[in-house]
Amino acid sequence: MLTMLSSLQGQHSKRPGRSIGCWKSLGMLLACAQIWTAWIDRRVRHGLETHTNCPLCDQEPETSDHLFASCSVTLQVWHAIFATLGVNLSLPRIACSIMERWLEFRALLPGNWQKGFDTLFALVCWRIWKERNGRIFRAQVSTLPQMLISIESEAELWVLAGAKRLGRLFSE
Ligand SMILES: [Zn+2]
Repeated sequence: MLTMLSSLQGQHSKRPGRSIGCWKSLGMLLACAQIWTAWIDRRVRHGLETHTNCPLCDQEPETSDHLFASCSVTLQVWHAIFATLGVNLSLPRIACSIMERWLEFRALLPGNWQKGFDTLFALVCWRIWKERNGRIFRAQVSTLPQMLISIESEAELWVLAGAKRLGRLFSE
């Protein structure tokens, strides 16, 4: 069902991921990310923190909006995912908020795909957050194909757990 992501990369994996996620979890994730980045900002102001750049691209200051909406690495992930959906996504150059990016991407899809996309957006943000933490705390860096494979594996689990609209997104 979701093998398009894998076939795009010429690889496939059945690595088990974590369990259920849903759109509501995106709100919690983003709240955590904003608290975290605000805490980093505070530590930087007090000279307690030197790491200020995004751990994914190392080009821009780390904020939740940058990480989830404007980071070049995040946008590469989205570009590949949209390609599997048959949508040519020209990479946006303008930085914006997470909400603006979500609405922008959502508007590129037919109406019957948008609910499934909401779940996918939460899933991708979760994976980006996991990548960010892996790079900072464990010095683990995933390649783009590895990130796409793990998103696919996680999406399969979410579909099995009941995210039917997410499944339809990739089967229609
Ligand atoms: Zn970045």
